[in-house]
Amino acid sequence: MPLMADSPYRSLPGVDVLLRRLEEEGIPHNVAVTAARQTIDAARMEIAAGAPAPAPGELAGRALAAGGDLLRPSLRPVINATGVILQTNLGRAPLSDRAVSAMQGVARGYSNLEFDLEAGSRGSRHEHVRDLIRRTTCAEDGLVVNNNAAALLMVLQVLAAGREVIVSRGQAVEIGGGFRIPDVLRQSGARLVEVGTTNRTYLRDYADAVTPETAAILRVHPSNFRVVGFTADPAIGELALLARESGVLLLDDVGSGCLLETRTFGLAHEPMVQESIAAGSDVTMFSGDKLLGGPQCGIIAGKAGPLELLRRHPLARALRVDRMTIAALDATLRSYVEGRETSEIPVWEMLGRDLASLKRRARRWAAAAGEAGAVVRSRSMVGGGSLPGEGLATWCASIRPPGGPEALAKALRKGDPPVVARIEDDAVMLDPRTVGPGDAGHVATAIGKALQVAPRAL
Ligand SMILES: *Cc1c(COP(=O)(O)O)cnc(C)c1O
Repeated sequence: MPLMADSPYRSLPGVDVLLRRLEEEGIPHNVAVTAARQTIDAARMEIAAGAPAPAPGELAGRALAAGGDLLRPSLRPVINATGVILQTNLGRAPLSDRAVSAMQGVARGYSNLEFDLEAGSRGSRHEHVRDLIRRTTCAEDGLVVNNNAAALLMVLQVLAAGREVIVSRGQAVEIGGGFRIPDVLRQSGARLVEVGTTNRTYLRDYADAVTPETAAILRVHPSNFRVVGFTADPAIGELALLARESGVLLLDDVGSGCLLETRTFGLAHEPMVQESIAAGSDVTMFSGDKLLGGPQCGIIAGKAGPLELLRRHPLARALRVDRMTIAALDATLRSYVEGRETSEIPVWEMLGRDLASLKRRARRWAAAAGEAGAVVRSRSMVGGGSLPGEGLATWCASIRPPGGPEALAKALRKGDPPVVARIEDDAVMLDPRTVGPGDAGHVATAIGKALQVAPRAL
């Protein structure tokens, strides 16, 4: 069908007009072409759907916004004002300055990743943090892989494939993102033998299940939920004794990689790696980026025999970590060795923040919201599948904008950098506990800006 003379399509500028405008703003040619085409195509679709043609100024604005979006990396920093310290969706543990500069130090150039500088010959990447894992956990040996899920899969496959692994019914759990213990066991080629009940499993349940086919007893810390009331689980020491007497391995997935006593922070006790090792676990696994406060990785600590089998297995190659991870983990573990963890590692620094300074910051944010803002008591969460149901007292800025909380939360997310808040009882809640000192001023500015655009944000 021929276009009519006054067809709204006619009033759309050519791609070349928009292109020139974008290039004037310094947007690289290839990106500008894509942005200009996308903008014109979108306008054509709107017209086809019956809308009038957008004004030229409006179109140029959209093209510039599209160009900006195309230039922005997909993965970028956000400000976490949710008060959840280990937020898996927001990248879990923020790294210490020391870890970041260690990563930078090896990122740009070459390193002795697999090179023995003393001998001038090939070395092993596994050597770099082995001694630090030994010193921080008191284990005989240590190995690092891509994450704790990989560690668990590898440990089961290398040490138990084709044989039986005994697990309490209360621990055959889903850890998150569809990662289920029974599935991992199946994947590893080991056979799951479930014992006990969801709430109560006794030592004799384990003992009765040991057969000549048994390779290991697996303990999994039920980190993301809590069974309360009529419960029973044998202590790790008892399981270690049973395993030793039965000639099988005790494998312990402690989850969060906690090396400090969480009770001193006003939280419940989170199982510590050292406790697992001291109790006699053969192989203990944990994440690097939960309460340990380091980079994403899975750390395997334990007895020399099983660790040597793991290190020599082809999966150690398939699941190996890169030099940046090793550098960051090295720096993080050194903070512990030197007794500087609570000041240097952000996770512990955040857990230890004092209420008075949190309240000061919350008050400043509430003031930025004017009439709509208030300072309220709330609770920060550890998150990341650690200490479920546990919280730390905190002060939040609570904002009840006239347009409702959703629009404001969205406007905050769309800022630069984005600010992620949580919504509670129809209010936007911003918790200073998880916001670094350098970002606090930005949050105040972001609140002011977001309140202006919020009515239009939905
Ligand atoms: C978080 C968690 C895992 C998974 O660790 P990733 O490092 O995320 O792979 C496994 N087991 C337990 C008990 C956990 O808490």
